[in-house]
Amino acid sequence: EKLQMASAREERILVLVRLRPLSEKEIATNEVVDWECINDNNILYRNTLREGSTFPSAYTFDRVFRGDCSTKQVYEEGAKEIALSVVSGINSSIFAYGQTSSGKTYTMTGITEYAVADIFDYIHKHEERAFAVKFSAIEIYNEAIRDLLSTDNTPLRLRDDPERGTIVEKVTEETLRDWKHLQELLSICEAQRRIGETYLNEKSSRSHQIIRLTIESSAREFLGKGNSTTLAASVNFVDLAGSERASQSLSSGARLKEGCHINRSLLTLSTVVRKLSKGRNGHINYRDSKLTRILQPCLGGNARTAIICTLSPARGHVEQTRNTLLFACCAK
Ligand code: ADP
Ligand code: MG
Repeated sequence: EKLQMASAREERILVLVRLRPLSEKEIATNEVVDWECINDNNILYRNTLREGSTFPSAYTFDRVFRGDCSTKQVYEEGAKEIALSVVSGINSSIFAYGQTSSGKTYTMTGITEYAVADIFDYIHKHEERAFAVKFSAIEIYNEAIRDLLSTDNTPLRLRDDPERGTIVEKVTEETLRDWKHLQELLSICEAQRRIGETYLNEKSSRSHQIIRLTIESSAREFLGKGNSTTLAASVNFVDLAGSERASQSLSSGARLKEGCHINRSLLTLSTVVRKLSKGRNGHINYRDSKLTRILQPCLGGNARTAIICTLSPARGHVEQTRNTLLFACCAK
């Protein structure tokens, strides 16, 4: 029974919380910080004006990171092990969840870069195996999937492959050469992601970005001998749409449509995550959104998952911060 508990623990979703510092603009407008990480596991809401209010003021997670923690620290202590399991053939997903401007892109970009550096480091130290690192990047906007490495705007389709599961058809896959190549690809993605943006953060607050690294390897001594076994797995770095999209009700035409679709992917992800956190039995509705369909092989089962919930410390954002923490509590 002890063993069983240990493995159940391992399968759990790792839930991390990262508080960002106040921005210069927030400091200039005398924003107040109401949140404090009192140790590595606990974050407190401290607002004496609100004492006696009905929501909990103390929250416990696998790890909480204060505003002065670096992304390197978040990576080392929260994401590295999960991201690097890909070289041993284990699928994984790392999510950034939080309201717009809470630090999702900041966090996920850094983590992607550190992970790629470590993956190349691992490859150089394991010359007995031949590795290939493939990079792809997509955006899900309005439940339409777009290739962030291509200027072709035609939405990509999903196909169910009996062996490989759900496949994004015709997605561009680049063989990643080195860390510098990663920088080039990330800047292409960023430029593509900005197309159609009406003002800063408008689109990125509504769309999900998935960067997927697929690592294949085989033992060199068997290469070309027909009996080599290839190990293959993917790690996904997922920069989610702003979590305010999961709750906000929008009023007019096109906006309403976008709002609804984003609700669908984010809400389906929340449901899937909640079910996974309660144990892996029973039906899980992966097929209800594009995001969860694409990520299905890298969620649940043997896959490893970390969710980094990013928080604004500002009093002005307290409602969304609470919503994010409630989601985080459901995931653990
Ligand atoms: P989101 O992707 O959630 O909308 P961003 O990652 O774009 O938010 O962050 C909003 C702003 O705050 C950016 O200017 C970013 O550089 C800054 N920022 C976010 N997190 C941190 C942090 N932990 N430390 C310093 N600056 C941060
Ligand atoms: Mg962003």
